Amino acid sequence: MPKNMPIKKSTSLDPQDWEAFRAHSHRMLDDMLDHVRDLREKPVWQPAPQDVRDAFHAPLPHAPTDIGTVHARFMQEILPYSIGNAHPGFMGWVQGGGTPVGMLADMLAAGLNANVGGRDQIPVAVERQIVEWIRDLFGFPDTASGLFVTGTSMANLMSVWIARTAALGGEVRAQGLAASGKKLVAYTSAGAHGCVAQALDLAGFGTDALRMIPMNSQFKMDLSLLRLAITQDRAAGYTPFFVAATAGSVDVGAIDELDRIADIAREEGLWFHIDGAFGALGMLAPEIAPLLHGIQRADSVAFDFHKWAQVPYDAGFLLVRDSAQHLDTFAASVAYLRRDERGMAAGSPWPCDFGPDLSRSFKALKTWFMINVYGADQLGAVIANTCALARYMQAQITNMPELELLAPVALNIVCFRYRCEGDDAMHADAINASIVADLQLSGIAAPSATTLRGQLAIRAAFVNHRTEQSNIDALLKETLALGRKYNSQAKAKK
Ligand SMILES: *Cc1c(COP(=O)(O)O)cnc(C)c1O
Repeated sequence: MPKNMPIKKSTSLDPQDWEAFRAHSHRMLDDMLDHVRDLREKPVWQPAPQDVRDAFHAPLPHAPTDIGTVHARFMQEILPYSIGNAHPGFMGWVQGGGTPVGMLADMLAAGLNANVGGRDQIPVAVERQIVEWIRDLFGFPDTASGLFVTGTSMANLMSVWIARTAALGGEVRAQGLAASGKKLVAYTSAGAHGCVAQALDLAGFGTDALRMIPMNSQFKMDLSLLRLAITQDRAAGYTPFFVAATAGSVDVGAIDELDRIADIAREEGLWFHIDGAFGALGMLAPEIAPLLHGIQRADSVAFDFHKWAQVPYDAGFLLVRDSAQHLDTFAASVAYLRRDERGMAAGSPWPCDFGPDLSRSFKALKTWFMINVYGADQLGAVIANTCALARYMQAQITNMPELELLAPVALNIVCFRYRCEGDDAMHADAINASIVADLQLSGIAAPSATTLRGQLAIRAAFVNHRTEQSNIDALLKETLALGRKYNSQAKAKK
């Protein structure tokens, strides 16, 4: 121990003047409520000026700064320059809008500062309550277990770990993958999210162990090619162990044929995982739920409350059919985490036995609050409405000869492009990429871009509960104006 460390009377970081702090807290809350209330009058996004970027390369502050000063910096330098996914005009990627209820609940969670890794406390019971709700919603048995994680990327990775233990037995945890001498291979659609391949990489299989099965005309995994790949792999000495279906693909919102994949997985002895990042919670909407039939047969489902269910970031989730297999993958016994019948160390198994994290935030609280305050049906209605908006946009595009749809609208995502003079593909891609960047810079509406069958697509994903028909009208109007401008520039050059 170093010497000269006199004990201080108090090192408490609590406010010295609670009344002044309380007044400031209320100002912060008011500022945030104003921000959310007035979102619609602001641009979706604006790039941060250089001086603001530079301000975030400051030296470490050793001395205190008044909270009012730091809050003012937040208001001026941070709040205006986030990506804008809370804004109704945000249609990029797949991102949820968050809610004031979720925001307040997150404040309560931070105030409580519960570490939901385990132990005998009601925050753990809140998380288990959500496991029960989701288990029932997805038609899983009572033996199912589940866990909040950061996002579907993590949940997908965990499903690969669990499937690996199920395929190779618990010894794999001590001996590693190579000891079995088996060459395990996995399957997913070419339209799967990139984190599925990353999961195979991070789990030590390598991305080459993932067979990317081509899609059919509906952007669903081609199941005859899946069967063929499995047969060929077995003939070549590989051991198929895992298939990841997608429920709501990131590019176009396609849902793989879950029931048929469940059949194939059962016949072939594969772990049947579903990446339902946004799509799985379509189970909350009576109009969408039938499209997800087969979800009840999965061995595991990964999804996010922070997308379609609008819970503030982050709130990913993994549901596993067989809690014993789930535990077999993660539970470990160490002396300082011993369990007891009585006292704080009761209530085993703990959440930390179901995943790689020991310390865990209370993500369940904001989710529990939102499901209680809004009710599951209202969240389902939001989900259904985003699909209705996508159908409206599809109909508008069909009536606009200058625009063309690039994929069927399966759920809440519309991929389209501006038709360009002549059919020089590179030229069309460049114009549509420019339109996307200009739209984002305009602050009016913010789609993102993707590539479908070799063509650059403008992609509008409706996830946010605040988005309305008028936001789509504004996007289309601006797209047409930009497309005409670029087209006439191209003509003038010729
Ligand atoms: C968003 C998404 C993911 C990744 O989820 P994160 O929560 O961002 O980690 C995976 N798959 C699909 C289909 C997605 O839409």
